[in-house]
Amino acid sequence: MNVLYERVALIGLGLIAGSMGLRMKRDGLVGEIVGTARSPETRSIAIELGLCDRVTDTAAEAVKDADLVVLCVPVGAMETVTREIAPHLKPGATVSDVGSVKGAVIDAVAPHLPAGVAFIPAHPLAGTEHSGPRSGFPELFDNRWCLLTPTGDAPEAADRLARLWRAMGSNVDTMEPDHHDRVLAVTSHAPHLIAYTMVGVADDLRRVTDSEVIKYSAAGFRDFTRIAASDPVMWRDVFLNNKEATLEILGRFTEELFALQRAIRKGDGDHLHAYFTRTRAIRRGIIEAGQDTDKPNFGRGDAS
Ligand code: NAP
Repeated sequence: MNVLYERVALIGLGLIAGSMGLRMKRDGLVGEIVGTARSPETRSIAIELGLCDRVTDTAAEAVKDADLVVLCVPVGAMETVTREIAPHLKPGATVSDVGSVKGAVIDAVAPHLPAGVAFIPAHPLAGTEHSGPRSGFPELFDNRWCLLTPTGDAPEAADRLARLWRAMGSNVDTMEPDHHDRVLAVTSHAPHLIAYTMVGVADDLRRVTDSEVIKYSAAGFRDFTRIAASDPVMWRDVFLNNKEATLEILGRFTEELFALQRAIRKGDGDHLHAYFTRTRAIRRGIIEAGQDTDKPNFGRGDAS
């Protein structure tokens, strides 16, 4: 594989940047990787684990002479980081990001970039509930989608970035930013909020039932707790920055929940059965599309 970029700068060195760095290095996809993070501790872990070739103390230093700059910080930090790096970007460079929300990130980043720099926003649909520099692994993006939402007119830059994501194992698709945010509100953002809520409710109950919620925790609840263990800063920023789409989906969710509540109260088994049959088909579709496994407990061992 030819080197796709001579120098890549990773701004932020957590789960996503770490996985990118390990994969790019493992497969020789780029010449040099320069990384930076807020804390000296993260920077030294990144060197210890080989997430990048060298680290710099500031984002401004990291982007010097970089052909590709990837913003891998929480969505709420994108604007501050962009303001810092903008005067130091190499003419002709590509700036991208991996933020889970696209519309708000584009609004935060694009106005600050100088002319002659291409901005190609991206979102790898891959993650775990773990965060920080020790959580990355090179296979994270294998067979997962990476959605690009290019706004300007830089087809060559978009093409090259798509090639990098494919080389890191992803399938690549292009989407309008607003459409991305609506789709992700359904498939990721609202489900996370519901998991946070369910675990919160159980936590309140735990105070009533002592430790039974943990002791007898069944697969359904355990799956919620895994999702609800996701990074609080990242998810706070996702909801604050994808407000409209998430609220719209939560509105629909509440209506459906009331309908199911009424069916249970009225003993309407037909309604419940038809509903659950429909949702079961969606699960089958996801497995057939290769986006999950049908092993018990999703292949995470420890089946119940
Ligand atoms: P992470 O593991 O928590 O790492 C975040 C990195 O950003 C850390 O290096 C952190 O530095 C740095 N950072 C945090 N706040 C900052 C700030 N205010 N200014 C400058 N740097 C800051 O996060 P992640 O899971 O890799 O997520 C990174 C991005 O990818 C987010 O935008 C998220 O929406 C997106 N994303 C996440 C997932 C997922 O499942 N996790 C999936 C797809 C996309 P320190 O370590 O020094 O604090």
